[in-house]
Amino acid sequence: MTDNYPYIEVAVTLPVFNTYTYAVPEPLQEIIAPGKRVLIPFGKRKITGYVLGSTKNSDIQGIKNIIEILDEIPLFPSSMIPFFKWISDYYIHPMGEVIKEALPGGINLNECISVHITECGTQWLDQKKAAPLENDILCVLSSDACRLQDISKKLNRKVPNSLICKMEKNGLLCRKREINKPVTRQKMQRYITRPETGIPDEKLSVPKQKILETAAEYGEISVSELKKIIPTAASHIRKLEQNGLISIFSKPVYRDPFGESVSPDHPPKLTLDQQHVVSNVVKNLGNGFSAFLLAGVTGSGKTEVYMHATAQTIKKKLSVLVLVPEIALVSEIERRFRARFGECVAVLHSGLSAGERFDQWIRISNRQCPIVIGARSAIFAPLTNIGLIIVDEEHDTSYKQESRFRYNARDMAIIRARQEGAIALLGSATPSVQSVHNVANKKFNELSLQNRVFLQTLPDIHVVDLRKHKDYRGTRRFITIDLQKAIKETLDRKEQVLLFLNRRGFASYPVCAGCGEALKCRNCDITLTLHQKDKAYKCHLCGYSLPSVAACSNCGSTSIKRLGMGTEKIETTIKGLFPQARVARMDRDTVTRKGALVKLLKGLRNHETDILIGTQMVAKGHDFPNITLVGIICADLSLSFPDFRAGELTFQVLAQVAGRAGRGNRPGRVILQTYNPEHFSITAATDHDFMKFYNQEISFRKTFKYPPFSRMIQLKISGRDREKTRQQSLDIGKMCNSLKKENSDYEQWIDILGPIEAPLTRVANRFRWQLLIKSQGVDLLHRFVRTLIFENGLHLSGHHVKVAIDVDPFFMM
Ligand code: ADP
Ligand code: ZN
Ligand code: ZN
Repeated sequence: MTDNYPYIEVAVTLPVFNTYTYAVPEPLQEIIAPGKRVLIPFGKRKITGYVLGSTKNSDIQGIKNIIEILDEIPLFPSSMIPFFKWISDYYIHPMGEVIKEALPGGINLNECISVHITECGTQWLDQKKAAPLENDILCVLSSDACRLQDISKKLNRKVPNSLICKMEKNGLLCRKREINKPVTRQKMQRYITRPETGIPDEKLSVPKQKILETAAEYGEISVSELKKIIPTAASHIRKLEQNGLISIFSKPVYRDPFGESVSPDHPPKLTLDQQHVVSNVVKNLGNGFSAFLLAGVTGSGKTEVYMHATAQTIKKKLSVLVLVPEIALVSEIERRFRARFGECVAVLHSGLSAGERFDQWIRISNRQCPIVIGARSAIFAPLTNIGLIIVDEEHDTSYKQESRFRYNARDMAIIRARQEGAIALLGSATPSVQSVHNVANKKFNELSLQNRVFLQTLPDIHVVDLRKHKDYRGTRRFITIDLQKAIKETLDRKEQVLLFLNRRGFASYPVCAGCGEALKCRNCDITLTLHQKDKAYKCHLCGYSLPSVAACSNCGSTSIKRLGMGTEKIETTIKGLFPQARVARMDRDTVTRKGALVKLLKGLRNHETDILIGTQMVAKGHDFPNITLVGIICADLSLSFPDFRAGELTFQVLAQVAGRAGRGNRPGRVILQTYNPEHFSITAATDHDFMKFYNQEISFRKTFKYPPFSRMIQLKISGRDREKTRQQSLDIGKMCNSLKKENSDYEQWIDILGPIEAPLTRVANRFRWQLLIKSQGVDLLHRFVRTLIFENGLHLSGHHVKVAIDVDPFFMM
């Protein structure tokens, strides 16, 4: 640390909002630095903390020394610390937990308790003085100390904690706190090289000669590669090293995430529209923060714009962060960026193994890759010198994380760009109402690409009114005559079809024929969905499953009617109707395995698939030139969500799926089936008319003071006990209302909605309540919630009931 103060500020990995001051013993002062982890005493424990910086002096009595510095190089650059501070403040989330979330998983140290046998214990064991179970435990411990849970495993029976306590009291064993080793480490590999000087002074054996030749040829080569050429190499290299003929060293290796090779491409000449957009963006490079919203219809060449802007940015020695909403799209964009930029691209997303993520992280930290592509969590990439942050498909709700720590990576991208003096470029074919509103307010600059690259027309959308088909039974009901005819024509022309339905599974509404009860999840308040391939009914919220032969829990009848539908049922139906067609399905059930998605996309690209059936997942970003027909099985599923954004979500998904049609040189068409042909989200999507949608939507938001005309924080209250959860929710409601009365600003500007029972009243055995706090002033809103927590004692992680804070909530069910 340059300023070399003996005191440092540390954020700890615990749910506490303070940071702490520690002293650094003299010999460690040289090597301490922000971004490194330290091991610190905290109460009775030893825990990991992150060094945020030095603090000058401290009057606080009894400051403790740090125990150890855990990293040789900082895990994140100090320029990120203000970013973490902002996040912690804005999302009201403990700083240490923010940093922990940011870092690749698996590198945090944990404390664990190990049990050791004492001298007295050994005596008892020898003299067989202990009771049988105690004797077994001592026997296990006599060979080696052991973690508590491992004793149970080794004895193959539950060892109660109380027994261990009793034995400790009697002096037979003792417990020690220990630190778990980090599970992720850089993977090292041995390499050899041949120094120029060494000349052998004796005649060498053939394999030894071959090793020297190979080393000379390769410059340096890993021992594992060498063994492929000379199988016995490993047994010779020590000797060769001793004779000074080669040197052996270790080098970190990187695990390649996808292992697909890509051939380099040549940048196309940009259209005039694209040139205009790129020059507008890059002219500001290095001149401080600015934000742009690029609205461009699907296929208008946005990705090409991103790549050109990226090229100009790295030319200026600045780095680029590219965010895409889903892992599925990372591989697509990665392929295009790698073809253009080669090795200097790193990827970060949760689909990588812990080791792979760690490797990518270190490469970025070491400044080996100025370009980082990733899903939501890549917003935390340890880049320095950022010039450009691109957020593709900025409207996508996947940027919002809904568990643990609730944040929105799209919004954080703007903040990070501002702090780094970089450019933020948000792009979408269907921009969010929020971002378009920001353009109207002059917070964002507007850019647009109005035409598709090769001036293909947008697909013609034909609406089918499902209400006219409600009397049909079976397949005819959802695969209507119109759709069936269009599929046939498309297949006859050897073109591809995409069918979209936003629901997985086979039957989404299994009902007992005996008593009429729906089959519900044991842990959640929703019906189960039949998954025929897995022969099970599954809960889409918690994963609970029942075998498909299960009887009704209400009356015992085994006759279950399979109402409703899902992608799996559509697949079966389509296979029946078009037995010659090659059909594939893309949804969360089929792409769980690693690489499955890449394979599906490849099959589509190489035309090994004629009809692809999928959920939301297929709607996003992919570029398949030979798809000329898109069938939307039922457009209404998202309209009924109890959410002020239901209309926006519906419009976006429809426009996006429709945009998959006709991206090549043949015109595309879309068949959109719906029960609500007059709804403005649906008519606007049919007309490809974003402004028509926006104008109607924005006036609705204004009337009801929904975002962007207000800000909201939702308290999500949940617990296992129905009554305690209800009571606590009502208490929190009272606390909010009385705080509101204390202050005239609150009185005037804060709205409290609820507490109410959540629409999904129970998920994974937790009862759920919610309370919404709304205000036009973001600062006031935050002050209100902070006061609740830090002054009025709103307890977030109570024993029975937990309260999660969701700032700018999306999922309000
Ligand atoms: P978007 O991201 O807006 O959907 P893409 O950047 O994927 O659009 O462009 C659609 C297709 O057009 C891609 O196949 C892309 O390679 C191609 N393309 C984009 N810009 C150009 C250009 N200037 N010249 C030729 N082809 C282009
Ligand atoms: Zn029944
Ligand atoms: Zn469930």
